[in-house]
Amino acid sequence: MKKILIILLSFAALQLQAQDLPQFKRIVKELSSARYQGRGYARGGANKAGKYLEKEFKKAGADAVTRQPFTIDINTFPGAMEMWADGRKLEAGVEFSMREYSPGVKGEFPVYHVDTLNFDGEKLLADLSRPENAGCLVCCDFWFTYKHGKVFSQLQKAGAYPNAGLLYTWEAPIKFFKAYGEKVVDKPIVWVTPEAIEGVKKVKLNVDNEFLTGYELFNVIAKVEGERHDSCYVFTAHYDHLGNLGRKVYYPGANDNASGTAAIVTLAAHYAKHKPGYDMYFVAFSGEDANLRGSTFFAEHPIVPLEQIKYLFNIDMIGDDNPVQYCEVSDAGMSQFPRFEKVNREQQLFQALNRGALAANSDHYPFAVRGVPCIFLENEDGQAFPHYHTPADNIKTIRWDSYTPVFKLVTGFIGE
Ligand SMILES: [Zn+2]
Repeated sequence: MKKILIILLSFAALQLQAQDLPQFKRIVKELSSARYQGRGYARGGANKAGKYLEKEFKKAGADAVTRQPFTIDINTFPGAMEMWADGRKLEAGVEFSMREYSPGVKGEFPVYHVDTLNFDGEKLLADLSRPENAGCLVCCDFWFTYKHGKVFSQLQKAGAYPNAGLLYTWEAPIKFFKAYGEKVVDKPIVWVTPEAIEGVKKVKLNVDNEFLTGYELFNVIAKVEGERHDSCYVFTAHYDHLGNLGRKVYYPGANDNASGTAAIVTLAAHYAKHKPGYDMYFVAFSGEDANLRGSTFFAEHPIVPLEQIKYLFNIDMIGDDNPVQYCEVSDAGMSQFPRFEKVNREQQLFQALNRGALAANSDHYPFAVRGVPCIFLENEDGQAFPHYHTPADNIKTIRWDSYTPVFKLVTGFIGE
């Protein structure tokens, strides 16, 4: 009798931690499909994905699903996206890309290759002031320009020097960084691979940008009622991504962050089936890849007082296969970090939890700086990671390994 009870109880415990890999895969596949165009802004993909998520949260059995709208000003590249190097057409998103705050550009330009071996900032600026170098694109390794920011920042401003713009070289694949600038600088800035631009004398560009002002986005908030309402747990993941680069290229963002978004929907489904001890909120943020705008808005306009949050779990990029799990923990969350380590050890989930320094790299940050106990879970440096912020972060390159252990880690932490 006792034995049967134990078996039944442990079966119940297993049930209680039932991840749902097929559901996870289905949602990742949908969100990273062409229909959402990389969940960006120029084509309305982010808002379309938000509407899809509202349906999914309802299907998952959430007690309430609401929208939290906010607006942003943002630079986008919805139209032409073409570049030729000495007549050879380059591949957008692979061989070249635009700096997020670049204006559009049309025309043919001579290329001025900066001599980084015998570099002298003053000499460079003097040389660029000469009439024969007017209208050129100044080409240089990005990290070199970063090191000599004082010199190169002047080449972005209208009127300061007669160069037409800048070409920054970056090893392939070109990372689109933040896709969206909240401003537009005076002169065009193009990312290009060193191979594509080496020895090139002339560059032709045909690029359209569109700066959107007061563009409305929304966070999707799903709630599962618990036994108690005086405090709550919060799961967060951003569902927006880099959108598109011109008409033809889009960034599917299967790992970043269809993966985390799908994970919190399966967590909502799980807790809807097993009434939790406390209220549970599942917040899918928009505007993350545009400088954490959705999460910052939520933290400034919380729907529950921030001090009632027992713990917040921000899941971003878990579509990977590194057996060591990266995490960041807020100061307020540190006293409970050993519990994550205990669950991880006891259930043999990851080889280790590798805790890094807190950074403004995802949606946990606006909460961490406001004293909310929180953890950021990201599976870095696996086989999917090299495709981060490239059009190749798609359903083919995503890895499914980390979803189940992450699911078990957070549900095991909450317990009950
Ligand atoms: Zn992300």
